Amino acid sequence: MKKLYYEDVHMTEFEATVTECIYDEKKKIYKVALDQTAFFPEEGGQVADKGTLTFINETGVEPVSLPLLDAHIKQDIIYHYVEKGIPVGTVVKGNVDWEQRFDFMQQHSGEHIISGLVNKQYGFDNVGFHLGLQEVTLDFNGVLTLDELREIEMKANEAIWKNLPINIAFPSSEELSVLEYRSKLDLIENVRIVTIPGYDTCACCAPHVDTTGQIGMIKITNVQSHRGGIRVNILCGNRALKDYTVKQNNAATISATLSVKQDLIADGVERLKQENLKQKEVMNRLQATILKNMADNLPTPDESNHAILFVEPMDDIAIRNLINDLVPKYSGYVGVFWGNDVDGYRYIIGSSTLDCRELATALREKFGAKGGGKAPMIQGNVMAIKEQIKTIF
Ligand SMILES: [Zn+2]
Repeated sequence: MKKLYYEDVHMTEFEATVTECIYDEKKKIYKVALDQTAFFPEEGGQVADKGTLTFINETGVEPVSLPLLDAHIKQDIIYHYVEKGIPVGTVVKGNVDWEQRFDFMQQHSGEHIISGLVNKQYGFDNVGFHLGLQEVTLDFNGVLTLDELREIEMKANEAIWKNLPINIAFPSSEELSVLEYRSKLDLIENVRIVTIPGYDTCACCAPHVDTTGQIGMIKITNVQSHRGGIRVNILCGNRALKDYTVKQNNAATISATLSVKQDLIADGVERLKQENLKQKEVMNRLQATILKNMADNLPTPDESNHAILFVEPMDDIAIRNLINDLVPKYSGYVGVFWGNDVDGYRYIIGSSTLDCRELATALREKFGAKGGGKAPMIQGNVMAIKEQIKTIF
């Protein structure tokens, strides 16, 4: 089977003859092999090309167009996954989704530059590569700092500006034996070598852009520890540009909201966070004061067994603190309900002598209240009006 993408990565249309068609019971799909194909299969960490296979079937005159669901290579035969069978001998027209192909070429060629630079400068190997529709990740078997990665990123973009040719060759075994190149496999025959002069020489089966300029740009977007080394996320070309647009929109919105310059939004957000914390402290103090004043006006333990308060929506912690203070003083229940008659109330109820779970049952049976807890304290919410709730005590 001829791999047309080796001859021309720009080929988006081709004709081929079906040589095999197998039904996969498990996956409920047909696997179609062709005498030649321009579709790059899933290989070397990169997902397969997308596109369509079009043909005229025996009964019809209208062409049938099947989307390519996936493509896998097995013993050097590429199987095209489609939802209907195509008889052996049928001539099909293949159409490669160029947008995805070119995007993948930009990402993959960018990856080679980064991996080549890391290997040259630090001696670390790319030990894992994933190129999907959303994400491009590179795993290295050594740790680089953020500053070191920024320097690699800078040099990688310089390689783009130089608009270097990306050369592809199948050197002879003799030539290979003296060639220094990155490779994950120990092959000695039919090795496809992708060279970016001065930056990288690597054994690789995937389609690449013709010149480094076509990559557009390379941006490292994330780095994390991974199996003793690092996993780096990169975006190249149009993906990097789209990412810039998203980040630009976010920066502009935050800048306008906080009235700070775009390059100072991180400081602005930090300041906002600190102010928020201060406000929260003030609010907590005020809530505690309000609750204390209300508690001071409750019937005394001599006048009533229970202490029940209805308050505006408040912080759980302030309410819990108040209940803990009051529980030892009253022989019955101490309860705080916060909310209103329309939206309902949340509650926390405690007691040092009675089993609060009995009260939880009563609230559930009478008002359909939700919640629970243990004997000394329960919490939950209830849809009922204040006067009704009071009758339960
Ligand atoms: Zn590669």
